[in-house]
Amino acid sequence: MRTPVPDYLRQVLRQCSDNTDGALADYIPELANVDPERFAVALCMGDGKVYAAGDSETEFTNQSMSKPFVYALALRDRGLAEVQARVGVEPSGDPFNEMSLGEDGRPSNPMINSGAIATHSLIGGPEVPVEDKFELIRRGLSAFAGRELGIDEAVFESEFATSSRNMAFAHMLRHHGMVEQTALGLVRGYTLQCSVKVTVRDLAVMAVTLGMGGRNPITGEQVVPEWVSRQVLSVMMTCGMYDAAGDWMTGVGIPAKSGVSGGILGALPGQVGLAAFSPKIDRHGNSVRGVRVFERLSGDLNLHLMGIQEARVRLLLSSGDVELDDGTAHHLRLQGALYFGSVEQLFRDLDEVPEGEAVVVDLTKVTYVNPVGRRMLLDGMRGLGEGSRRLILVDPDGVLSDPTGSGVDMSVVSELSEA
Ligand code: GLU
Repeated sequence: MRTPVPDYLRQVLRQCSDNTDGALADYIPELANVDPERFAVALCMGDGKVYAAGDSETEFTNQSMSKPFVYALALRDRGLAEVQARVGVEPSGDPFNEMSLGEDGRPSNPMINSGAIATHSLIGGPEVPVEDKFELIRRGLSAFAGRELGIDEAVFESEFATSSRNMAFAHMLRHHGMVEQTALGLVRGYTLQCSVKVTVRDLAVMAVTLGMGGRNPITGEQVVPEWVSRQVLSVMMTCGMYDAAGDWMTGVGIPAKSGVSGGILGALPGQVGLAAFSPKIDRHGNSVRGVRVFERLSGDLNLHLMGIQEARVRLLLSSGDVELDDGTAHHLRLQGALYFGSVEQLFRDLDEVPEGEAVVVDLTKVTYVNPVGRRMLLDGMRGLGEGSRRLILVDPDGVLSDPTGSGVDMSVVSELSEA
């Protein structure tokens, strides 16, 4: 059977390509020189499988899409408290190029330029000279993408030569004691960071790395710890789409970040990374066609974070009888993910099985177990096993194996070769 995803992605591009609204970002002169018709989309699944359509090999500068990843690297390098002391997590409601400092001089969040410059300054710690921070960032972005990323010199020169506004932000941050480095050094580094070249494919991989708890599913590298990815995705959700964050949350519902080069990346935790590219942007700075693509993907594929994820809720695949050597047992076949909500339902299913009957809990089709689901299931099964029921756990792939050692007695767990 052939996956329908590539055809579907081509269809989405076709259907969104008649929209010619928007304009190229021209406040960075070099950005006005790109082909406005370029159009691409990519998905990276949680296991690293990438699907792409359109101009998916075209490179463009990542601009503000670097901000969530540099925020992630700063959190990794400095910890939450030190980063929070310099940059907040509240949506500003202002455009990205407003300074939006709070009364304490802290930028509202890391997704606006003033916050991104403050974030840049934190990379590597105070002992790293400002001119060395960009290379740490370039390596970090490359680890997210799973390949070496370079910069677009022409875009860098063009933006750096016209960066008076960002220079003003850096001076103000220094005035408020939020950064220690020179404004020129910081803006140079920040502009280099924005000039890193990516494709939609890179962006989808970078996004899924955040969505999978900081681990790049292609290279296997744990780029940032899981708590960092949760923090970053939360800030993307509330602040990622410039001043259109509320529209985005309600309409699309995927944590995302856009850049004025026309790219948008999004990450649905535990599921998929998404990216779109089309250079013409709206008045907020978001790619016009890119927004359409995300609206389509979210609607068609049921990706809205606040939508009910049915596949996760329905844990019970089938319930019936199975013949064992020494009699009949009740056979519960589970599928999908074991987590708080789904295991809670399982216990109610188990309660329906009459006392004294043997029960086979079959995890063959379970794909993911989170720590809470694991502990609940093991604790619960131990409790049930201590009663009058006989419990048999079928776990051929070892999804429930307990490397962290939760202290749960595994002696109730036995294997059934055929169920
Ligand atoms: N380098 C751009 C700037 O600082 C990034 C803007 C963006 O992509 O939102 O203006």
